[in-house]
Amino acid sequence: MIVQFTLLSKLIVFLINVTGIALIITILAENVRPIIKKLFIVMVVLMFLWVNMAFLARIVEETEIGLIFIRVAWSITPLLFVLIYTFIVYFIGVAHKYRHFTIFSFIVGILFVFVTALSTLVIRNIGFVGDVLVIEYGILVWLFFGIVTFYTLVNFYFLIKYCRDKSISKNTKKKIRTLLIGLSILFVANAIFNISGPVFFNIFHLYEFGDYSTIVFMIIIAYAIVQRNFFDIKVVGTSFLVSFLGIFLLADALFFSRDTQQSIGKLLVFVIYAPFGLMLIRSVIREIKQKERLQELTSRLKEIDKQKDEFISMAAHELRAPMTAIKGYVSMLMDGDAGELSDTAQDYLTDAQSVTERLIRLVNNMLNVGRIEEGRMIFHEEVVKVSDIVHQVFVSFKFEAQRKKLEFGMNVEDGVKETSYVDSDRLTEVIGNFVSNAVKYTEKGRIDINVKQKGRRVLVEVVDTGPGISKAEQKKLFQKFYRVESAVGKTIGTGLGLYISRLLIHKFGGEIGLDSESGKGSNFWFDLPVVDEDYKSPRKVEETA
Ligand code: ADP
Repeated sequence: MIVQFTLLSKLIVFLINVTGIALIITILAENVRPIIKKLFIVMVVLMFLWVNMAFLARIVEETEIGLIFIRVAWSITPLLFVLIYTFIVYFIGVAHKYRHFTIFSFIVGILFVFVTALSTLVIRNIGFVGDVLVIEYGILVWLFFGIVTFYTLVNFYFLIKYCRDKSISKNTKKKIRTLLIGLSILFVANAIFNISGPVFFNIFHLYEFGDYSTIVFMIIIAYAIVQRNFFDIKVVGTSFLVSFLGIFLLADALFFSRDTQQSIGKLLVFVIYAPFGLMLIRSVIREIKQKERLQELTSRLKEIDKQKDEFISMAAHELRAPMTAIKGYVSMLMDGDAGELSDTAQDYLTDAQSVTERLIRLVNNMLNVGRIEEGRMIFHEEVVKVSDIVHQVFVSFKFEAQRKKLEFGMNVEDGVKETSYVDSDRLTEVIGNFVSNAVKYTEKGRIDINVKQKGRRVLVEVVDTGPGISKAEQKKLFQKFYRVESAVGKTIGTGLGLYISRLLIHKFGGEIGLDSESGKGSNFWFDLPVVDEDYKSPRKVEETA
């Protein structure tokens, strides 16, 4: 008698097998304890046997063979429940407390495998009523159901007990709750389809759905194992596809061949396919592991970067107050507040003043970088004449340029429209950075600061006859901490000046850049939009309204 299995059932069994293999592969790829991996794999294998044997029992022609299949399927069930219990205690991490009970459970489970598989005590016989397989139970069937029910209750007991235990971590508790959901689904499905249906209501044809529910439980267990970031979709996808094709080839070879010859041919295809499929999965897993490592390193790097920024900001903060004090005292000495000074003393103090100013600029840059990047900087924007600021900077660098015997000029184009809406202190810093660099890096020749018109924009250039910068280095110049190779170690600097200048100029709606060639000096420039003298920002207008 051949049972006409519905296409849906065939498809479900096929998908259960595919999913089972995909789950095993996924768990193998995960970084979990070996005992958890082993228990999971054995559980899935037992589930395979259970589902497939029960399925085969219904499609084989001879009832005697069907009986063997059904007995094998049934023999595995109690052992599977024992394994679920073992998995749970290992998963929670309390296995050592219940060692004796675990050993006892395995003895009972294995004993029942033999009793069910080899005797008529649990299943006496099977028969078919129409298309439906009906089982004649043996006298020990109640013991069989008893064991399954007992371990189901034990599993619930452990999960609920440790879900409330204070010594269990929050994360583990979340996983335990996930397992509880899985176990409940398995329990309800089995209670309805495998037990109540056939035993109390003589409904046998839905029996297989109880078996099928196991796969749902396995998926949930796998999810609980890897919960950290759900399954990696790439591993799951690849495993699923490879398993799908593998089982399809195998099933085709075993069940849908015309004769042995064709079957062997198809098996050969499967044998060739299998290692390639596994290789594909392994390469995906390797790639994912590398990606994970990269992510880990990146986040560590970000953390270190943050710590470094915090340190810079803290150090700069601590340095600024004493430096401002030094600057004040030097200026008082130079003004003669402590009495008449010799020319040599005046010279020394001029040096001290310019060095202190350079250090203050450096510290300000260090402090500002964090503020600007994090949007903490407060800007006091107003309409200013750009050449006024340029002039201020020009004056403050006159001495230093003189000392280096550089010619130093400032040129404002006739009739230039140069009112711009900016924070004048910040613009002073930008021009200061440009001019300070020009003075610092130029050994002989001249430096010019030009203010020009460029359409509706005002253009400021700082042109020097210094070493110039190669095209390759120009690209990186405005990046954070970038310093031209030849400058490193020779001059004081942080590589922050140009980076901050770029951020500020962009903030004010301008462009920044440089024209330079190695050995031929540099022209650092920026432009800013010109506004009318009575310009008010839209925000300010709103505030005063
Ligand atoms: P710092 O001067 O603190 O090193 P900057 O961001 O101001 O940092 O400048 C970055 C690099 O650009 C400097 O290290 C220097 O090598 C190069 N540089 C800047 N201005 C000039 C210039 N006028 N001439 C030659 N090189 C310059």
